[in-house]
Amino acid sequence: MSERYDYIIVGAGLAGASAVEGVREVDASGRVLLLGAEPDRPYHRPPLSKKLWFGDENLEDIFVHDPEFYAAQGVTLRLGAEVVKLDVGARTVTTDDGSQYQYGKLLLATGGAPRRLAIPGGDIPEICYFRTRRDYLALRAGAAPGAHALVIGGGFIGSELACALSHAQVQVTMLFPGSHVCSRVFPHGLGDALGAKMSARGITILAFDKPISIHHTGHRFHTETEGGRKIESDILVAGVGVSPATALAVHGGLRVDGGICVNDYLQTSAPDIYAAGDNAVFPSALLSRAVRVEHWDNALNQGRSAGKNMAGARTAYAYSPYFFSDLFDFGYEAVGDVDARHETVADWQRTNEKGVIYYLEHGLVRGVMLCNVWGQVDAARALIAAKTPGAPETLRGIIPFGE
Ligand code: NAP
Repeated sequence: MSERYDYIIVGAGLAGASAVEGVREVDASGRVLLLGAEPDRPYHRPPLSKKLWFGDENLEDIFVHDPEFYAAQGVTLRLGAEVVKLDVGARTVTTDDGSQYQYGKLLLATGGAPRRLAIPGGDIPEICYFRTRRDYLALRAGAAPGAHALVIGGGFIGSELACALSHAQVQVTMLFPGSHVCSRVFPHGLGDALGAKMSARGITILAFDKPISIHHTGHRFHTETEGGRKIESDILVAGVGVSPATALAVHGGLRVDGGICVNDYLQTSAPDIYAAGDNAVFPSALLSRAVRVEHWDNALNQGRSAGKNMAGARTAYAYSPYFFSDLFDFGYEAVGDVDARHETVADWQRTNEKGVIYYLEHGLVRGVMLCNVWGQVDAARALIAAKTPGAPETLRGIIPFGE
């Protein structure tokens, strides 16, 4: 016998929590069940690799809502309950303890799982594939001053954690195959400048190389690399990308292509089932293609939109990608299509400490990165929406740097 809910949200991350708000904006009384595999109620992930390490935020402040919020909203919250089966015909989901629930509308906000290194030793349990609040607690507990950490991956997680660990006085070595940190979004010049800044803070950066095997003996990791290096460390943390969690959708027979495919209204190929967050591939009018966005801002907005649409609104999800990061005292916000393969125009004040980078496609501004320049996100969005031509002489100075 399965319990029936008007709305079931699978995944108690930011997208799931935002979906609760979206449902309640439209339907004040429908029965809502929020199911989460993690033991924690929904929390924000960005502080895990940023502010928590620099003392700018407390662990108790990262939750999306107070514990009382869910009961006050009439929402049943079940944590530590992983959904293992979706039966689209019977309109049910089943959790790992055998409980079965029937849905009116279903949201798959299942996020993603860190990719594992497919090398000998890549499955050693002591490797920290960083993603969750628990991963933060474990890494923090081991981050003793003077310990040596090998950080594999030079993307968002790798670069942010390298700075965080270094701030905690851990000796950090970064290892990644690309030419510079965050090579998917930073043009060469900026990546090199940030690499130099990180090196000046004591981080050893090993680019153009990757691990081929890992051993773990006597609490030490021994990593061999393709380039012939042998690296010893006390801590091994990896950020080598995320795979969207699509297993339920696949088993349910939904359309999946690099993520769960949804339409403008965030409906999957089964109209009463929606998807939002890291796992959803959605049509982007701005980018003129289907995209999957793994950033915080998308989870926040897409979850809310999906919740509203599930509850009866019919609003197309019009989204302009946005993300932010902090690497020591270098903070940036990125808007639109910020892809390092695009041609760029850089507008710097003196050194690479403060400035704006414009990313061009077909001669038009498609993305903007604001580097230590604050309060200009709307201006950047407006430039992209206006299809501003990318001539360096007109772009330079078009967004003011402020003080
Ligand atoms: P990521 O940004 O995609 O970076 C993956 C990194 O792993 C890249 O440097 C990549 O190098 C490297 N890599 C791939 N295969 C490797 C291998 N075999 N050995 C060594 N390095 C390898 O992914 P992430 O850092 O794991 O972050 C996961 C997701 O979390 C991201 O997609 C992001 O959206 C989200 N996140 C966002 C923020 C933010 O917005 N500030 C912060 C943290 C996390 P190449 O690029 O050279 O291939």
